[in-house]
Amino acid sequence: MSFEALGLHASIVKAATDAGYTTPTPVQEQAIPAGIAGRDLLVSSQTGSGKTAAFMLPALHKLAIAEQAPVAPRGAPGERPRFKAAQPKMLVLTPTRELALQVTSATEKYGTQIRRIRAVSILGGMPYPKQMQLLAKNPEILVATPGRLIDHMESGKIDFSQLEILVLDEADRMLDMGFIDDIEKIIAATPDGRQTMLFSATLDGMVGNMARRITKDPMVIQITSSSSKHENIVQRVHFVDDLSHKNRLLDHLLRDETLDQAVVFTATKRDADTIADRLNIAGFSAAALHGDMHQGARNRTLDGLRRGSVKVLVATDVAARGIDVPTITHVFNYDLPKFPEDYVHRIGRTGRAGRNGLAISLVNHAEGMNVKRIERFTKQLIPVNVIEGFEPKRTASAPRSAARPGSWKPGDNRTGAKPGQRTFSKPGAAPRREGAPSGGGYKGSNPRSADGARRTYGDR
Ligand code: AMP
Repeated sequence: MSFEALGLHASIVKAATDAGYTTPTPVQEQAIPAGIAGRDLLVSSQTGSGKTAAFMLPALHKLAIAEQAPVAPRGAPGERPRFKAAQPKMLVLTPTRELALQVTSATEKYGTQIRRIRAVSILGGMPYPKQMQLLAKNPEILVATPGRLIDHMESGKIDFSQLEILVLDEADRMLDMGFIDDIEKIIAATPDGRQTMLFSATLDGMVGNMARRITKDPMVIQITSSSSKHENIVQRVHFVDDLSHKNRLLDHLLRDETLDQAVVFTATKRDADTIADRLNIAGFSAAALHGDMHQGARNRTLDGLRRGSVKVLVATDVAARGIDVPTITHVFNYDLPKFPEDYVHRIGRTGRAGRNGLAISLVNHAEGMNVKRIERFTKQLIPVNVIEGFEPKRTASAPRSAARPGSWKPGDNRTGAKPGQRTFSKPGAAPRREGAPSGGGYKGSNPRSADGARRTYGDR
């Protein structure tokens, strides 16, 4: 199947080809023709599945071939220019600023051949005068986080009466973050005849209820492809006795020569700062990313990550959501996430665009139940690994056997990693137990926490 065969305009096919896309991903194969036909869509697909192009390519196609409405004059000559509300044709709502910026830059990439379509981001943290300038240009596409958009809507800077296409990206996440009222308010300001495309990791529960309310006869697309199971990502658990053990092990793993760039996830913003500082002192080029940072600092950090000057990003869930940097080879869960869904989003920061990745969770002995919950959610067992010199003291009595060198057989591989795929072991290195998954998921837990540390969760 080619992009042309999906019915896209030649200029958009060219932009996709220039972006290096040769064949549509499964979600694109289904969503693009339906999107072009004007259907409402409910899509359950993971990040990394190519979902941005799945909604943006048909939208650009429709906007590009639509008859251009005559441009309303913006004030007579000599008259003092008055601000006129922007009247976008398309709105994409995203949970985070980072994802919004990513969608905007993907839109620019896909629209390089179509001059007259502009996309701008409207985000919290961006100075108002700058946003007024962007809105004054009356862009066709707005990509926004709900809160800031509401501010502009209520002060009459945006008029949605001409809106044709509404996209809710990572809708489940927006609801988790408490944006339901804002989203309802925004939707109420848009025309009934709009096309609505909703993307979400799940279409159950609250998201499903909202999805049914805001769409008309939607086409439901459920993608359970290998990428949504992260089959190209090798997952491991390493047990640690305490924080000092965890830090020493993290430093060791960060020195892996197969590591290009890494994201280390922490439970709190404070931990993200502390660990980034500690890693910098230890000689890694580390930077923190969390919601307390000013937008400028966040953008600089993300630029550094994309350019490669930041090797280790230490981040909270909310801040790192949606980061798409193909050179991220490793993800570390310094703290386990509160929700299993977040685990899936976290590890999806590696293994981007068809590459392989390694996701390592550093877990204290009391967190076994959390590992089990993740395994139940992903329907995958996560092998436990031990590295020589970093053995947890309590492994011997643990109910789950640690990895034994040479014990791996193709059939043992419960993570879905394929034989012959990158193994992340150092060539010529002394025998390491790392590459030898135990082949069993977590089977038990010990309630006593050796870590002893307080753990609170969320982007706090
Ligand atoms: P997304 O799920 O939208 O975050 O996209 C994940 C990654 O896949 C991004 O790096 C996209 O540039 C890339 N991508 C999207 N569609 C395709 C395609 N058809 N072929 C190759 N890469 C793609």
